[in-house]
Amino acid sequence: MFHQPTTFEQALELRRALGTDATVINGGTDVVVAMNHGAIHPQCFLDVSRIRSLRKVERQNGHVVMGAGVTFSELGKMHFRALREASLSVGGPAIRNMGTIGGNIATASPAGDGCVALLAMNAEVQLASKARGDRWMPLVDYFIDYRKTALADDELIHAVRVPHNPRSRWYKIGKRGAVNISLVCCAISQNENKKTELAFGCVGPIPKITPKASALLAGEELTPELINDAANLVTHEVSPIDDQRGTATYRRAMCGTLTKRLLTQLMKDDAKGDADA
Ligand SMILES: Cc1cc2nc3c(=O)[nH]c(=O)nc-3n(C[C@H](O)[C@H](O)[C@H](O)COP(=O)(O)OP(=O)(O)OC[C@H]3O[C@@H](n4cnc5c(N)ncnc54)[C@H](O)[C@@H]3O)c2cc1C
Repeated sequence: MFHQPTTFEQALELRRALGTDATVINGGTDVVVAMNHGAIHPQCFLDVSRIRSLRKVERQNGHVVMGAGVTFSELGKMHFRALREASLSVGGPAIRNMGTIGGNIATASPAGDGCVALLAMNAEVQLASKARGDRWMPLVDYFIDYRKTALADDELIHAVRVPHNPRSRWYKIGKRGAVNISLVCCAISQNENKKTELAFGCVGPIPKITPKASALLAGEELTPELINDAANLVTHEVSPIDDQRGTATYRRAMCGTLTKRLLTQLMKDDAKGDADA
């Protein structure tokens, strides 16, 4: 059975009525793969892809709010550099046309490129239920453990919002140039008060921030010495594992390398007076 609501209110009502009997689906780029692998056997779908309001991007009180159904292709046109580049690194064009930011956040893979970019940008996620209405929470609190999140069984992801961070950077290391799951990825953002946030993918059970490195950098002018110290700290804050794509040792080292690389880009842009997004 395929339920295809056209409003978010209808979707919340169906979510309440069907609970976990229905598998929520949007672009299907994770759900269909899981079905093909026999990992899930849905009897019934709650398809949220026809809800137009979930595809909106709008400015609200100093934030940019993106509906859960905004696709990576659409995010690839945004002015936030880290989010734009992370989105354009996802899969190939067909996957980016179908895959959504809400699906990426719900799947909560440690390799979720959208999740990592949003974490660095201090994003908040809006969860909604028929019974309790909407709640906003920092994305960093949403990820609990490997693919375990704060999303309740009667909730849907409604939207995600980011403050208007002036600058952000992104880099992904993978084995190929396209359709490339991260081996390690890193996103960094810095606001006008030089508050710097770093996030990493594939270095632990959940997309990861590094609070000690952020605290070291907070409010400081970037210098080569400070960048080195931050990169060092990062390698102690992450906890990668060995898997088929790479070793823990390599990943840990690459976290330091990417930190150096992205912070150095920001430092050089400072020197040029370049304050792009
Ligand atoms: C070939 C290929 C390459 C890929 N490459 C990458 C990559 O490079 N980087 C990367 O990060 N990902 C990659 N992915 C994974 C995937 O594209 C993303 O995770 C995508 O964002 C999922 O979005 P979707 O709309 O397709 O979600 P779906 O598959 O429809 O759903 C995914 C999960 O989210 C839940 N869900 C969806 N919408 C909502 C909602 N509004 N509220 C609550 N739950 C919801 C579903 O129940 C399901 O659990 C790839 C996938 C494929 C098949």
